[in-house]
Amino acid sequence: MSDQKGKHIAIYGKGGIGKSTTTSNISAALATDGYRVIQIGCDPKSDSTNVLRGNEYLPTVLDTMRDGSKVHLDDISRVGFGGVLCIESGGPVPGVGCAGRGINAAVSLLQELKLFDEFKPDYVLYDVLGDVVCGGFAVPIRDGITDRAYVVSSSDFMAIYAANNLFKAISKYAPSGGAKLGGIIANGLSAGYSQSIIDDFAKKTGTSVAGYVPRSLTVSQSELYGKTVIEASPESEHAELYRKLAKTIAENEDLVVPSPIGAQDLRSWARDWGDKIFKLEQGVLEGNREGI
Ligand code: ADP
Ligand code: MG
Repeated sequence: MSDQKGKHIAIYGKGGIGKSTTTSNISAALATDGYRVIQIGCDPKSDSTNVLRGNEYLPTVLDTMRDGSKVHLDDISRVGFGGVLCIESGGPVPGVGCAGRGINAAVSLLQELKLFDEFKPDYVLYDVLGDVVCGGFAVPIRDGITDRAYVVSSSDFMAIYAANNLFKAISKYAPSGGAKLGGIIANGLSAGYSQSIIDDFAKKTGTSVAGYVPRSLTVSQSELYGKTVIEASPESEHAELYRKLAKTIAENEDLVVPSPIGAQDLRSWARDWGDKIFKLEQGVLEGNREGI
C-alpha cells in the first residue's frame, strides 16, 4: 500500500448485481456518520455515483483527459449527498483499449492532483466492474490502489462465478502485496434457500458474508427518485441494513486470502445445489397439494 490517506476499499461484482447501489448507500451511510468519503466509479458504464448526485451529469476522468486540456478536480468531481465526493473514471472508447488501463490512468491523475492529500478522506470506495476475466479489472487490487476488496453477489450462478473469479485474482496477487478480501455482500436475496447457497459458497472458499441485503421495493423506489435509500428513506429497514453494513465494512480488519473453487468443482457444487433446490420445490408443491 502507498502512503494514501484513509481506508481504500474496492467493491467488485458482476455487471448489474447491485455494486453501485450498495456502494452508494455505504458511502451515504458513512458520510451521514460524519466521515469524509470519496466514491470512484471504475466501470465504463460511468453511473456509479448517480444516486448520490440526483442523476446530474458528471464528465468522466477519461473523457476529460482525452480532451487534451489540463484537468482540474472541479471538472471531474461533484459533491453529492452528505458531502460524498463523486468521481467516475469512465472507460475507453467503446471497442478500443482496456478498461483497466483507464482505471489506472484515472487514479494516477487523482494522485497527481493531490486529491487524497487535500481532501483527506476517511474512506475511498472504488466501485469496480468485476468479472475479472480481463486483467484490467484486477488493477485496483493488483497495483496497490486498495488493500481490501468486497464482492457483491446474489445466489445466482453467474454472480457466484464472478465472485469466484475475483477470489482467483486475489489469491494470485495477494502474496505479492495485492489486496485481500473483506467479505461477500449478499445482495438481492429473495428465496429462502438463497442465503444457504451464499453461506455455503463462503464456507467453501474460506470467506465470510459481511451483510445480507434482500431485494426491496425501497431500493427500486429510491433509485427512481435519483437518491440512495439513506437519503430517500432514512427510517426504512433497508436504510438500517445499509448503515449496519457500512459500519461492518468500516471497522473490519479481518482480511483473508480466499480459496477459490476449481472450475470442475464449482460446476459440481452448483449441480448439487440444483438438485437440493429441485427437491425442496417438489417438497413444497407436494405439501401444498396435500393441504388442499
Ligand atoms: P451494478 O452497479 O452492479 O451494475 P446496480 O447497482 O446499478 O448494479 O443495480 C442494478 C439494478 O438493480 C438497479 O436498478 C438497482 O436499483 C437494482 N438493485 C440493486 N440492489 C437491489 C436490491 N437490494 N433491491 C432491489 N433492487 C436492487
Ligand atoms: Mg454500477
